[in-house]
Amino acid sequence: MNMVAWISFITDRLAVSLKYAQKSSNFCSFSTQPLNPSSINELANLCSRGRLKEAFESFKFEIWSDPNLFSHLIHGCISKKSLPWGKQLHALITTSGCYLDKFINNHLLNMYGKLGELDTVLVLYHVMPRKNVMSSNILINGYVQRGDLESAQKVFNDMPERNVATWNAMVIGMMQYEHNEEGLDLFSRMHVLGFTPDEFTLSSMLRGCAGLRALFCGREVHAYAIKSGHDLSLVMGSALANMYMRCKSLEEGEKIIQGMAIHNVVACNTLIAGRAQNGYPEGALEQYSLMKKAGFQPDRITFVSVLSSCSELAILGQGQQIHAEVIKRRATAVVPVISSLISMYCRCGCLEESIKAFLQCKDADIVLWSSMISAYGFHGKGEEAIEIFKQMERQGLVANEVTFLSLLYACSHCGLKDEGLKYFDLMVERYGLKPWLEHYTCVVDLLGRTGCLEQAENLIRSMPTKPDAVIWKTLLSACKIHKNADMAKRIAKEVLKLDPQDSASYVLLANIQASAKRWDEVSIVRRAMRDRRVKKEPGISWFEFKNEVHNFTMGAKTHPRSMEICFYLEILLSDIKKSGYVPDTGSVLQDMDVEAKEHNLGQHSEKLAIAFALMITPPGFPIRVMKNLRVCTDCHTAIKYISRLKDREIIVRDASRFHHFKNGECSCRDYW
Ligand code: ZN
Ligand code: ZN
Repeated sequence: MNMVAWISFITDRLAVSLKYAQKSSNFCSFSTQPLNPSSINELANLCSRGRLKEAFESFKFEIWSDPNLFSHLIHGCISKKSLPWGKQLHALITTSGCYLDKFINNHLLNMYGKLGELDTVLVLYHVMPRKNVMSSNILINGYVQRGDLESAQKVFNDMPERNVATWNAMVIGMMQYEHNEEGLDLFSRMHVLGFTPDEFTLSSMLRGCAGLRALFCGREVHAYAIKSGHDLSLVMGSALANMYMRCKSLEEGEKIIQGMAIHNVVACNTLIAGRAQNGYPEGALEQYSLMKKAGFQPDRITFVSVLSSCSELAILGQGQQIHAEVIKRRATAVVPVISSLISMYCRCGCLEESIKAFLQCKDADIVLWSSMISAYGFHGKGEEAIEIFKQMERQGLVANEVTFLSLLYACSHCGLKDEGLKYFDLMVERYGLKPWLEHYTCVVDLLGRTGCLEQAENLIRSMPTKPDAVIWKTLLSACKIHKNADMAKRIAKEVLKLDPQDSASYVLLANIQASAKRWDEVSIVRRAMRDRRVKKEPGISWFEFKNEVHNFTMGAKTHPRSMEICFYLEILLSDIKKSGYVPDTGSVLQDMDVEAKEHNLGQHSEKLAIAFALMITPPGFPIRVMKNLRVCTDCHTAIKYISRLKDREIIVRDASRFHHFKNGECSCRDYW
């Protein structure tokens, strides 16, 4: 819109407002008589209590041209968030002649800015007879609110003089849209020119440092804050703690929070989120219960962190308690909370509950739809994931990269090769999205699982993105499923070039060679592991029952009831052998005799966990076991037999997916 258009736009708007103002009240003439202070007080009072209508009505024509009164009324409109009253007021100001007053104009600019009427701010700014620094600051804020940093920067550059607020507005704007580097740059210029940043600038700087994971820079801001006496305020304290935690310096962050004189919900949330994001979910939940004991009420931000901690730990009981709290605090309609609920229930093995949480949301956005697609995929329900995707398209939502990633993941986990490839094409061709490495990884998985190993390898070697260790490892797992030992050797080399310490790949390769009975190759792999000091990550399985978490490692030696458990498991294994279970000694690495191998298999953490769960849970109670690594082939077979023999639903979440065992079958259809 050009200038002339702007002006006619605002004039029209004013004319309408003015007509409205004249019709709805008796304001018809204006006087420049000085006012008595008590009436100003009375008006200010009414405005500050939000009684705008009375304020407008109690004063008649003779007092309307006092700028002081107008400023009270403008603030009243801002705090009442009332645009109609604001427009009426604007019309009155224009007719009263006060519009020539630059302070009143700035107040009006500010009002339109705060009420989100950015177009009006722009028009007013351009027709303002007298502008000052404050007017330009308001305009910058307006552009920042709209995300138009380029225009904000232009106003900033054209300003003959700037004050602290100008710099603050610009720095905060840059940081808000994660132009972190530009923000830091502006900040140092501001500093050199001798402008003192306020705590909002400092805290947005810290946010920027957190976003860049720039610990060094964050420390500098911290030092500056100490020097200028800002470090102990509530806003600064939380921002500092958040910066340290996001930069992986959990301890320093915690120290800051503990050193703060006043605690509030924001501080608690920072601590909880910091722990949740730094791989310390137990700590996050502990802090959550401390927070509640201290009388602070959790809010939506708290819920997102603690629910994600519950999904991380896959502890359903606590997750359900938090869900109850979410309902109590009426946060059930908040999209990020719903999304956390969906993934918590999904990761805890209750797909039904995820669906319920999703259906309760009236206007689900693309994030929620994507979470739901990925929940179905995680549970091996590829057809349902595709169905949800189609439903989403019918509702007119536009899929983004994340949506497609969820969908491709679902297809690859269910071996839906043709569909997966079709959606990959759709994403590139029709949606014009550029695939990420993760998308390629899904396609490689899809091809690999269905036996198209060559095609998968060709894709990796020809894609425009540089492959990482994960994508090669995906193909390596496919080599294992299809027992292609030659290719495995070649692919393992690629993985280890990129990640020489990756124990899982060594183990995978050794397993593949072992099942091909190439014992010399196995010992080469083991020697390489020893030489490079690669440590094998120990397998851990766990489950939660009655708010208690039971952990199992190989051999259960650490468990207080280990004797009993091993005894129970031995009987259980011999029972399922009677109905056809044959231990898969091929998946044991060591070149030892069959009996020793069988014993070794019988000590796996997931078998022990399931045995103990059978011992302590009532009949018919579904068993939910989590494992940090992938479940092995032998355990997978054994659990199928156990589920039939004991007539139990057994749900195992391993490092890559869920397995629902029921009546001798697994939902993954042996694809994992
Ligand atoms: Zn196993
Ligand atoms: Zn399975």
